[in-house]
Amino acid sequence: MTRNGVLGGGALGLTAALRLAQRGESVVLFERESTPGGLASGFKLGTSYLEKFYHHLFRSDTAALALIEELGLRDRLVWPRPRTSTLIGGKRYQLDSALTVLRFGAVPLVDRLRLGAAVGYLRLERNYHRMEHTTADRWMRRYMGDRVYRTLWEPVLRGKFGDRYDEITMSWMWARIHQRSPNLGYLRGGFQQLYDRLAEYIRQLGGETRFGSEIIGVRRDGAGTFCIEATDGEHEVDRIVSTLPTALTIKLTPQLGDNYSARYGRLDSYGAHCMILALDRPLTDVYWLNICDPGFPFVGLFEHTNYMPVEDYGGRHIVYLGNYLPMDDPLFGMNEQQVLERFLPALRRVNPDFLESWVTDHWMFKAPFAQPIVTLGYADRLPPHETPLKHFLVANMSQVYPQDRGQSYSIALAERLISGLPGAPPR
Ligand SMILES: Cc1cc2nc3c(=O)[nH]c(=O)nc-3n(C[C@H](O)[C@H](O)[C@H](O)COP(=O)(O)OP(=O)(O)OC[C@H]3O[C@@H](n4cnc5c(N)ncnc54)[C@H](O)[C@@H]3O)c2cc1C
Repeated sequence: MTRNGVLGGGALGLTAALRLAQRGESVVLFERESTPGGLASGFKLGTSYLEKFYHHLFRSDTAALALIEELGLRDRLVWPRPRTSTLIGGKRYQLDSALTVLRFGAVPLVDRLRLGAAVGYLRLERNYHRMEHTTADRWMRRYMGDRVYRTLWEPVLRGKFGDRYDEITMSWMWARIHQRSPNLGYLRGGFQQLYDRLAEYIRQLGGETRFGSEIIGVRRDGAGTFCIEATDGEHEVDRIVSTLPTALTIKLTPQLGDNYSARYGRLDSYGAHCMILALDRPLTDVYWLNICDPGFPFVGLFEHTNYMPVEDYGGRHIVYLGNYLPMDDPLFGMNEQQVLERFLPALRRVNPDFLESWVTDHWMFKAPFAQPIVTLGYADRLPPHETPLKHFLVANMSQVYPQDRGQSYSIALAERLISGLPGAPPR
């Protein structure tokens, strides 16, 4: 029986481990954190789990929806249509339907019509390859007009990619607009339930899950087997599925070689930073607020309890304040108090009545490798799943291109990978 070692216990690693266990193979999953779920994991608050980073699903997230059903969690899935808006010139514009685009008073009517036509085209066009060789900056300026671009899209791109905003391929933007539904799916009680259930199911099928086990090295020995060196000891396996970021996989596995490292080790990504506030009252009436105004210390504000009931969190109103930044940005070095001092004054620009005394609790989370930087030519720089080491496979978030990251894409990637292994029954 093949012994598999799965590195990483996020959506991708857990799904890969489950599918391997379902094939009757031996599997051990290694996860550095004490709980499963990776970027989509949560912590207990009131009667629910709250994600460390804001999360929801779209109707098009079919792989995640099928897995939720398979694991018996479908009755917890809800589909509200919360308000999503954009802050421009201190004013909130709802922008989530054709009608709201027509009413988008930040630009003249002629620009709104152009914006609507271009968004309509992106939703209908299926061939993203057409947009792969141009930047979002160039494409959107050209088809939506300079004013719409500067008012709306440039701040969005800058928020995600900072100074590299004008290098991002239009195919990435296409994926963000093409399929998204206005109704947003949430697993009432938190996505952590999905990941806990996955881990439990892997164990029921005879697989092993090792949480709190950080990989510190992987090497292949003379007999062709792999030795996984983890903080809780050494483990021998026949096949590796690494779901860790490629750069980290390379660092942990010197035998992948210099050529591989030179070719695939440089895919950039930003880290994610999130401050979560619990308030004693609502801050806004929207769930999702893109910040397009300059001078804010965060790029998005997500009031989760305008999406899920406040009772699920013991009556606390939950607000996420998010940033994507290079991992050496000073924000990642600040403590919670310093970040609060920087962030809280800006909330008055969103709600002039806001007082710091409304904040009853707060949490801060940071994650490296959280947002791949999808610049021109990205597809050519993506590593294949096979590596120079036979039976050492790489499958991670950066490979879901042209999609942006997402739980469902990681789940689908894991399923494709495992079903493509020799001896797999057709799914
Ligand atoms: C701010 C933010 C908002 C998001 N919003 C959404 C959303 O609304 N909807 C959605 O579907 N998706 C969203 N995502 C994306 C989603 O979280 C990811 O696409 C998905 O969780 C990725 O799963 P993964 O398993 O591929 O990667 P990860 O979750 O990153 O899993 C990798 C795992 O490897 C572990 N690991 C790392 N190093 C080691 C080591 N040395 N040893 C052992 N383990 C290690 C990590 O702890 C982690 O658990 C969001 C992400 C962020 C950052």
